[in-house]
Amino acid sequence: MLPTSYSGVLVAFSLLVAILASYTALNMAGRVSSAHGKAAGIWLAGGSFAMGFGVWSMHFVGMLAFSLPISISYDLLYTGLSLLIAIASSAFALWVVCQKELPTLRLVLGAIFMGAGIAAMHYTGMHAMLMEPGIVYDPLLFAVSVLIAMLASGAALWIAFRLRRDTARVVYARIGASLVMGCAIVGMHYTGMAAAEFPLGSYCGAANNGMENKWLAVLVIVVSLAVFAIALIVSMLDARTNILATSLDEANSELVKLALHDTLTRLPNRVLLGDRLDQAIQKTNRGSKKHFAVLFMDLDGFKGVNDVYGHHIGDLLLIEVARRISETKRGEDTVARLGGDEFVLLIDPGEPEDAAALAQRLVESIGKPYNISRNTVHVTASVGIAIYPLDGATVHELMINADAAMYHAKELGRNSYCFFEKAMNTNAHQQLKLQQDLRKAIDAREFLLHYQPKVLAPNGPMIGVEALLRWQSPEHGLVPPDRFLPLAERTGMIVPIGNWVIDEACRQMREWQKQGHLEWSIAVNLSTVQLAHAGLVDVVRSALERHQLDARHLVLEVTESTAMRDAEASLIILDQLAKLGVSISIDDFGTGYSSLLYLKRLPANELKIDRGFVTELAQGNDDAAIVSAIVALGQTLGLKIVAEGVETAEQQALLTRLGCNTLQGYLLGRPVPAEQLTTSLAALGTSPVGVATP
Ligand code: C2E
Ligand code: CA
Ligand code: CA
Repeated sequence: MLPTSYSGVLVAFSLLVAILASYTALNMAGRVSSAHGKAAGIWLAGGSFAMGFGVWSMHFVGMLAFSLPISISYDLLYTGLSLLIAIASSAFALWVVCQKELPTLRLVLGAIFMGAGIAAMHYTGMHAMLMEPGIVYDPLLFAVSVLIAMLASGAALWIAFRLRRDTARVVYARIGASLVMGCAIVGMHYTGMAAAEFPLGSYCGAANNGMENKWLAVLVIVVSLAVFAIALIVSMLDARTNILATSLDEANSELVKLALHDTLTRLPNRVLLGDRLDQAIQKTNRGSKKHFAVLFMDLDGFKGVNDVYGHHIGDLLLIEVARRISETKRGEDTVARLGGDEFVLLIDPGEPEDAAALAQRLVESIGKPYNISRNTVHVTASVGIAIYPLDGATVHELMINADAAMYHAKELGRNSYCFFEKAMNTNAHQQLKLQQDLRKAIDAREFLLHYQPKVLAPNGPMIGVEALLRWQSPEHGLVPPDRFLPLAERTGMIVPIGNWVIDEACRQMREWQKQGHLEWSIAVNLSTVQLAHAGLVDVVRSALERHQLDARHLVLEVTESTAMRDAEASLIILDQLAKLGVSISIDDFGTGYSSLLYLKRLPANELKIDRGFVTELAQGNDDAAIVSAIVALGQTLGLKIVAEGVETAEQQALLTRLGCNTLQGYLLGRPVPAEQLTTSLAALGTSPVGVATP
């Protein structure tokens, strides 16, 4: 046998070429599978060429690394044929990898075909030497080389299939995979070479018309490097534009989403809901379904959460509520957020009872406690249901009526659902009418104040009054504040109305002083909207000046939750009011969530225990414990303690014993007009504090 030898440099080059070829091949697989139509075909053709040429040049450089003690050359025809075989098997491999799936059977068959192809290329390339007599192959090593080719092909196909998507991480995986694949290809080649034995006296039949070894090596290496470089650059540019296109696509769908979705909860917004409602109406009219239902949901107590915990927690709560609604609804239902704490669900109930069942599940799910940023928060939902076509013929009508039903659910005690009924419509119209009439009420001088005595515990004398607003409407009769104040607050009308109250209370107090009631004070209620309104301090100051009333005779009652809302801002306003010399009273105390630290900073003079604790008050019960705790707290902070809602003698006695300084309630006097207050006092013969005794 002829002794064989290898050039170390060229072997190293052949390994490098194999690795580069593998990397190019993996890249190409990525390109082909992310392209479509004609582009995919072009990538497949280009990829097959680059990869096939790569594998072939590895083989060829490996051949050139090999030397025999005789001169060797290669026959162009067979060399060209081996290149064609390499390209064809690459094309086949790329095609396999770019299919949607790679089941095991296809992987195995693919590996066999591709491995056979590579082996065919190799042995055709060997044949290009046209040795005389022929090369003798060791059957075992020959078989091993073919096996390696198939195993390497299988691994390559599997890896390429896995790594065909372009992502940032894939680049590193591809580099690693190329190293493995490169080594496998090289392994196959040199095993194949080892299988070859050249009998003594062999000579190379291609020696005369072939090319010379050294120049061939340089040429093949340069050309293959150039092919890889071009393939890789083009492929990377394409990947880049592809990624750009994908991110543009994503940005675009994000934009579409933003315009139709609520940014906070990502639910569809009013616009999208309107569109869905239109579609649902059309579908129903075409007869493809019988009816559909609109569920209007509004949270109960959401405003309180915002006031007490701030808007951030409020936002998180809304996100969580949205999640619970989405979980509760069925897949095909549309849920939208209209804004604030209002959500709408569009459903396709088989029967109206389905809508009721869903509404009930929603109420239950939303009503469970929330754990948000380590706070346990409670809200409930009221749901109104309107059914098309029964309860409205247009989107607008349906929404109005579902909303009216929701209000009805709220009136019935919240945390429940309610179907729309015709009667509610008149209710909605009444609300509208009320609003219009309220607007005219100030100018029409329809407001008046009633005054309720505040007396020293247990029996008096009377030390002041609380002014309570009444609306004497020619149409609606004497309207209590509960019926129009929420409306006035929602519409902002509370500001001019409240300013009128302050002015009128100061006027009346001055009047009483003129009658000799020099030590009385008058309490005026302030709502949240008023406290947040910039002009409040000026309004109070000018009312005091206009009526020449000493500020210490005016008390401003602010509910605990009003004071807590935007606590820092409230503090500034309350401080300015206190500087004027007016007293601050914390109303409805015990219902909010004041922190003691905050309470200490408030410039308050008085705590009014909420009526709720007084109503059920009895010796030794919970309410009694709460009242005495509030009293203890008030005393520590140096505050006067007022109990309101005192209706019975027992309450009067107990509250006095628990330490309340001042009592207020029907037992001690109902709210009455000013004249009536003075006449009833006179009739009772009590001598109010400050009345000059003759
Ligand atoms: P509030 O400040 O807690 O006023 C006390 C309410 O309890 C009054 O109801 C009063 O009539 C009622 N009340 C007094 N004693 C008793 C009693 O022994 N038993 C019972 N069951 N109730 C009693 P009213 O006048 O209907 O006022 C309701 C709420 O409207 C007030 O609650 C206050 O928050 C608000 N309000 C009243 N007037 C004004 C006002 O001029 N401006 C503002 N912003 N709010 C006002
Ligand atoms: Ca009050
Ligand atoms: Ca109160």
